[in-house]
Amino acid sequence: MGMRVKLAAGNWKMNGTRAALAEIDTLVAAHGDAAIEILICPPATLLAPMAERIGTAKIALGGQTCHPQASGAHTGDISAEMLADAGATHVILGHSERRADHGESDDTVRAQARAALAAGLTCIICVGETEAQRDAANTLDIISGQLAGSIPDLSTGESLIVAYEPVWAIGTGRTPTLDQIGEVHDYIRAELERRFGAGVGRSVRLLYGGSVKPGNAAEIFAVSNVDGALVGGASLKASDFGGIIDALQ
Ligand code: PEP
Repeated sequence: MGMRVKLAAGNWKMNGTRAALAEIDTLVAAHGDAAIEILICPPATLLAPMAERIGTAKIALGGQTCHPQASGAHTGDISAEMLADAGATHVILGHSERRADHGESDDTVRAQARAALAAGLTCIICVGETEAQRDAANTLDIISGQLAGSIPDLSTGESLIVAYEPVWAIGTGRTPTLDQIGEVHDYIRAELERRFGAGVGRSVRLLYGGSVKPGNAAEIFAVSNVDGALVGGASLKASDFGGIIDALQ
């Protein structure tokens, strides 16, 4: 199995209109030929114009969710094929905001992931405990259940990325200790190796997400089995995201 290429992934959530494309121009100019992988997951409305602005630079695009079906009567939803058609190569699935705001269960996320794989997208599947679950010492059980339930059997080392995002660390400015991050990432690695074998299990990239900033990125990236970050707030400005990219290379 090859070396896992570091990945800096930005989740813009429900932020950004075409005016925000200027941030992409800045990112392309400063990091368009980075040695690590860079991924931006903008609102679906910006995928196609962003793909045009990125041109041949080495910045990938992703969606933030997709529907389990390829097409049909699902008002307001978007399919994996549509994301791919608009320029996406990746999709974030099972983000805690989707799980909370839209009641997405592990079963839903697994069905979405199957659809994404069928459309040729790489899935970034998010798992993470709430504060109450951590306080009750249930973190690893919760992660285990989410991994088992959300990840489809067909996953490969190239088509699957797992993001560990403690719910209480998202958008709060709070982060787990480095030991806590390492404990969960080592656990996820072991679970993937147990289920998929060492070859696949060791090639899946594991991202940490939750209040990553330029100031804390380097220490988090030094933790074992942290192969990059899924970044929310700090991915919106090219200068902040650039600082995180710099910390990865
Ligand atoms: C996220 O929602 O994926 C995230 C990590 O958000 P933030 O970086 O803003 O905490």
